[in-house]
Amino acid sequence: MKVLLAGGAGYIGSHTAVELSKAGYDPVIVDNYSNSSPIAISRCEEILGKSLTFYEADVTDKEALRAIFTKEQPDAVIHFAGFKSVDESVRMPLLYYRNNIDTTLSLLEVMREYDVSSFIFSSSATVYGENAQIPCVETDPTGGCTNPYGWTKLMNEEILKDAALAITNLRVVLLRYFNPAGAHESGLIGEDPKGIPNNLMPYVTQVASGKLPFLKVFGNDYPTVDGSGVRDFIHVVDLAKGHVAALEYAKNHTGVEIFNLGTGRGVSVLELVNAFVDSTGVDIPYEIVDRRPGDLAEVWANPSKAKELMNWQATKTIGDICADAWRWQSNNPQGYE
Ligand code: NAD
Ligand code: UDP
Repeated sequence: MKVLLAGGAGYIGSHTAVELSKAGYDPVIVDNYSNSSPIAISRCEEILGKSLTFYEADVTDKEALRAIFTKEQPDAVIHFAGFKSVDESVRMPLLYYRNNIDTTLSLLEVMREYDVSSFIFSSSATVYGENAQIPCVETDPTGGCTNPYGWTKLMNEEILKDAALAITNLRVVLLRYFNPAGAHESGLIGEDPKGIPNNLMPYVTQVASGKLPFLKVFGNDYPTVDGSGVRDFIHVVDLAKGHVAALEYAKNHTGVEIFNLGTGRGVSVLELVNAFVDSTGVDIPYEIVDRRPGDLAEVWANPSKAKELMNWQATKTIGDICADAWRWQSNNPQGYE
């Protein structure tokens, strides 16, 4: 079965390409490399010991998509292609609304032309918004997003729900990722943020490598286990396997289904730092600074629906996440460059 991975050269897409291929699927990667490198694809090929099909194209370019659909005849689409920086989305909202929504609309329109019905979408825990109830359950209210990036995820969910109401054979799976982290155990592929990372795990690995002097822990006065923020860090390979499960699920279900992809375990920032030191032996100097505006005290998933309906659950530990992230960072100090 051929699966078109829009944005498949990126962090989550590349790991998913590997897991799909290992599970017997035939991934077709489409990416414009706006936040990735074709080297990620050659690394996937190295892991798999076989070549992959890929195209450099903008997913908002329907003519380019039509040419790829005509040639490849995909059976399903997984849509990772989008911009993902919260800060940047506040500074450049139009760019974010344009790219993150136009990619979805273009894919859906071309899928209709080619009678492709399965669509897996990269959503986020951010759709639960600032009033998120913990642990988050798929039936909880959504909205109250605190930045344009979050709204693009929620708007995409609404677009896909409406599309599935009107188009009877559409099969949509909305995957709400919690905090993807870590890297493939080979150390060949991983997260390669441009500039100074915003997210915790790549920041920690760059402190460990000496690229950054110390970690700023954003707040130690939250009502949490140790005062620092608590998140549900999910190993990117577990997350990638969630996409394999979602494709299997979509084979037998029309309409829309929503799944949290998280571990169900909250880990605090300071616990993550300690886990990193324990599993790598590398010290992480840190300072406590003010809270980051817009951050919630704790966010973690109830992942039981994914277990029940897709037989998927995360298996890797926070120690695995730290060890694999560090292997990737130390083997590739400049990322894919
Ligand atoms: P990423 O930036 O590494 O991957 C996205 C890929 O899409 C990149 O390779 C980029 O070049 C490509 N892309 C962007 N716009 C494109 C376009 N118009 N045409 C073609 N390619 C385009 O990000 P990621 O971490 O792999 O995230 C994948 C998806 O998951 C994104 O939609 C993101 O919003 C979502 N998500 C990520 C996280 C996270 O923490 N990483 C959490 C929740 C949801
Ligand atoms: N965080 C931190 N220092 C950093 C980056 C993040 O203390 O340099 C904290 C942040 O306040 C939050 C957690 O780490 O409690 C996860 O942040 P991240 O940006 O990785 O994910 P998100 O905020 O999207 O959950």
